Amino acid sequence: MDPKSLNEFIKAQGLPAYRAGQALKVICTGARSYEDIRVLPAELRKSLGVWRPMLSFTEDALKVSRYKEAFKARLRLADGELIESVLMRPKPGFWSVCVSSQVGCALKCAFCATGTMGFKRNLTAEEIADQVIYWVGRMRDFKITGSVTNIVFMGMGEPMLNFDAVKQSIDWLTHPGYFALGRRSITVSTVGIVAGMDRFTEEMPQINLALSLHAASENLRTQLVPVNKAFPLEELILALKRYFLKNSRKVFLEYVLLAGQNDTIKHADQLAGFVNATGHPRLMHVNLIVWNPTKATYVPTTRDQAYVFKKHLLDLGVHVTIRKNLGQDIDGACGQLVTKSGA
Ligand code: SAH
Repeated sequence: MDPKSLNEFIKAQGLPAYRAGQALKVICTGARSYEDIRVLPAELRKSLGVWRPMLSFTEDALKVSRYKEAFKARLRLADGELIESVLMRPKPGFWSVCVSSQVGCALKCAFCATGTMGFKRNLTAEEIADQVIYWVGRMRDFKITGSVTNIVFMGMGEPMLNFDAVKQSIDWLTHPGYFALGRRSITVSTVGIVAGMDRFTEEMPQINLALSLHAASENLRTQLVPVNKAFPLEELILALKRYFLKNSRKVFLEYVLLAGQNDTIKHADQLAGFVNATGHPRLMHVNLIVWNPTKATYVPTTRDQAYVFKKHLLDLGVHVTIRKNLGQDIDGACGQLVTKSGA
């Protein structure tokens, strides 16, 4: 629900503004229809229903992982396009929503399923924020305990290429009159679009930044992440330095582990070199993600090799963890989100 258009609608009905606030509060608790907003007069509930649906998409499919710690939804937008959105439980009681910011993605990282779709369009701020509201409703339907404690922009698309809508959705989701989530509980992940990172530094100081690095030598990174040609490692280091001039929040480096490609001791040394080159190694945290299979022909690094890689980084003083791969059995893990065109 776009709070601005709701305010305008309420105003146009000649009703007091607080009615919009009342509606938003209930919508954020996962209401399924306007009829659930009992605090509103019956007449208004009815006219809202005629006005427009509560969410900007409908559920097209829903998958639940074996241990019910990950859920993936395919959502049909008003123009027929499809996106995916994921709800994950990193630990009991804590739920993280992995939102998409675009339909498809233009960047074509070699190991990522979303890139194979190409780019269709940006999502609106409403379509982004509604993914969170939708999951709250689903949690309510399934009587899931706990609440949404985190939002990560790690679904389909490149958030820094849809900056304004991403920023607007975050403003709504953190607004005390709307979803009221703490800004520090939100992470935006980027492939390294430098102009976006610079705006992020200036305009979103309390939001966490994650940078998808995947390789710390220019040739290999360009092979894996073609946009590295436009924004090479040295540019990324400068962008991180500018970030740290303004901000002393921890930055996360995402590093997908591909057997034989980027997971040897030499690669770990290069990665440590990148971390040190930012000038703030204590503020960098490396998240290793063993590659989640897609149609690409890579092979995931073995558990043993992932530990060797991690241990080497630890020995070099780098903060590092291996991320749990939640949702692999429903193709809902990092980089597995893909939909065909809605046509
Ligand atoms: N475009 C943004 C947001 C996507 S976040 C970005 O690149 O950061 C999704 C994360 O999962 C990125 O770090 C991405 O590189 C990583 N990823 C993509 N495909 C993957 C796969 N198959 N297995 C594991 N991680 C993958």
